[in-house]
Amino acid sequence: MLSAILTLALLAGVFGLLLGYAAVRFRVEGDPIVDQIDALLPQTQCGQCSYPGCRPYAEAIAAGEAEINRCPPGGEAGMIALADLLGRDPVPLEDEEAAAKPKSVAYIREPECIGCTLCIQACPVDAILGAAKQMHTVIEDECTGCELCIPPCPVECIDMIAIRDTPETWRWPYPDRKPWLQEAGDA
Ligand code: SF4
Ligand code: SF4
Repeated sequence: MLSAILTLALLAGVFGLLLGYAAVRFRVEGDPIVDQIDALLPQTQCGQCSYPGCRPYAEAIAAGEAEINRCPPGGEAGMIALADLLGRDPVPLEDEEAAAKPKSVAYIREPECIGCTLCIQACPVDAILGAAKQMHTVIEDECTGCELCIPPCPVECIDMIAIRDTPETWRWPYPDRKPWLQEAGDA
């Protein structure tokens, strides 16, 4: 009995060492510039940049395959932060209309919800609580306002509610006057 326990303990120790070695030996180093770009993106995973999430967009920017002006949720501030990081000139946002939209969160009109779970499947950040044939509700603090849950809702019971501005969400109110673009000669 004791020998069996000792053998098991020895095997566990050996495997533990092997796993530790493999974790160090085969660790995939993230690309530091991709990590830095990704850290500047809003992590809404909304796909408005046409990439399937913030990380793939960060990788495309780092590879020179995508411009820095394709993230509406990040807005002007996000684009300028990327320009500063990469030493590039600011570029007017590709979709200024989407960027100008006030920050919003999804709200489910619960009495109308039929519990089909389609919104849960569409939400990239798991901000919706619910179960089949049960009422669904949005966890406001988790919602990024990406609106991906709205198209699949068969009874159209999801609204987007604008949230009050905070110092973080405040936007430059004069989109047609952009002093920081004076040098680039765009404005
Ligand atoms: S609840 Fe809707 S709007 Fe909010 S993050 Fe999820 S999919 Fe986007
Ligand atoms: S998609 Fe609409 S009806 Fe279906 S669970 Fe979500 S809120 Fe309810």
